[in-house]
Amino acid sequence: MKFKILLQIKCLIVALFTFFCVNLSISQDKGSSAPNIIIFLIDDMGLMDTSVPFLTDSNGISVKHPLNDYYKTPNMKLLAEQGVRFTNFYAHSVCSPSRTSILTGQNSARHRVTNWIKSEDNNRTQFGPENWNWKGLTKASVTLPRILQHAGYKTIHIGKAHFGPFNSEGEDPRSLGFDVNIAGSSIGQPGSYLGTEEFGHLGGNKSRAVPDLDKYHGKDIFLTEALTLEANIAISQAKEEGKPFFLNMSHYAVHAPFYSDPRFQKNYSNSGKSKKAQAYATLIEGIDKSLGDILQHVKDIGLGENTLILFLGDNGSDAPLPIENDYSSSSPLKGKKGNHWEGGMRIPFIASWVTPNENKPIQEKLPIASNTIQQQMGSILDIFPTLLQITNSKWPKSHKIDGFSLKDQLNAKQNNRRNELFLNHFPHSHRSNYFTSLVKSNWKIIYHYQIEGQPRYELFNLKEDPFESNNLASKNPKQLKIMMKILSLELKRKKALYPEIEKKPLELIMPR
Ligand code: CA
Repeated sequence: MKFKILLQIKCLIVALFTFFCVNLSISQDKGSSAPNIIIFLIDDMGLMDTSVPFLTDSNGISVKHPLNDYYKTPNMKLLAEQGVRFTNFYAHSVCSPSRTSILTGQNSARHRVTNWIKSEDNNRTQFGPENWNWKGLTKASVTLPRILQHAGYKTIHIGKAHFGPFNSEGEDPRSLGFDVNIAGSSIGQPGSYLGTEEFGHLGGNKSRAVPDLDKYHGKDIFLTEALTLEANIAISQAKEEGKPFFLNMSHYAVHAPFYSDPRFQKNYSNSGKSKKAQAYATLIEGIDKSLGDILQHVKDIGLGENTLILFLGDNGSDAPLPIENDYSSSSPLKGKKGNHWEGGMRIPFIASWVTPNENKPIQEKLPIASNTIQQQMGSILDIFPTLLQITNSKWPKSHKIDGFSLKDQLNAKQNNRRNELFLNHFPHSHRSNYFTSLVKSNWKIIYHYQIEGQPRYELFNLKEDPFESNNLASKNPKQLKIMMKILSLELKRKKALYPEIEKKPLELIMPR
């Protein structure tokens, strides 16, 4: 028995070694042809938290809504004009599931980080599955940064991590394949946005104090700015070392607490919105300035044509706006962060070369359409396969992924090999409790688990009713059954865990 275990461990070590050697040799061949990569991730930024219109009419023409007139994001506008943006880009409805999916390419139903990770203890909630992955990623996890690290990239994490609870392996991004970690830890929100409050060490919420930024303590500086300065230093260092870089620029903004960024306060003081909503708008404008500053820095040091940027949020908007009949921060989309409607899961996504130049060989291999809105679905699950395809990297066959490479879609093409399906499985209680939703092409179903009595179903035709105002569950039982079958199959394929009552999983109940 002991011998058998030893043999298995030996085989595993050999397999890992072979896997990493293969990747290392690829990187040495690549040399300077490897593109630099920036994931510019904004915490809790939903589809409508920007002056760039992401919604379109039925002809694919962008349509402005009132929230687009409220927010000011000029650098996002420039990026959208030189790159491609997606109108149907999905994320999970809360933080940790999405962040884990970006790093693994797996749906949360598969990686089982189905709820946001609480730093102090298990955030299972009353009827959540006992075996959900509340400790998050580990040193053994296959992750995007680890693969890029072994492919010769300098891998840099800046800002919010939220990959594991306190004292877990995943707490420090360096355990997950990042060479550098600045300001990332278990915490899912900053104790304070102010340097004068030492980002939570001195004022604000001390249990959520942001680590590593001591040199800004006592200074009149906003957290978003401090992280931007650190990102630019790290980019320069990677260049000096002669390595391509992968930067996971992961802002704490625009997550609560909604501190007002004094640099932008006056832009919203006559808006008629609440003080909190004004503060939120300053957080948005702060990350937009950060975007502009980092893009400018990359250009200034001569890396613009070699650097790819993917801009995105991690779940629906949490803007502190009034809720009227379930419409609020994501309006005209229904719902907000944590909800089962579209406002909980649709996020902004823009891809571009920092300095587009179609004649540059590195860009010829990955052409990106300019000023284009992609109508076909994309999701956070696609980041992992996209970046590994672009960098010619492989992942172990045993690591199943649920995403599809976006390579063709970035160039405004359709990818007919991908499915048009996004599953959001949430077997916990939060703002929306114990639900699974599934979007497939024009249809969307939401299954509310039978915690009390019978399950509830919602069914929407997103093409005819994009803002989910007309529940067709009882009017179209045939389509409801079709969608339930697909939902059931997807959960089984991903080995999802159901909510539980007295240790008994609540299996799906099909509609009659
Ligand atoms: Ca979030």
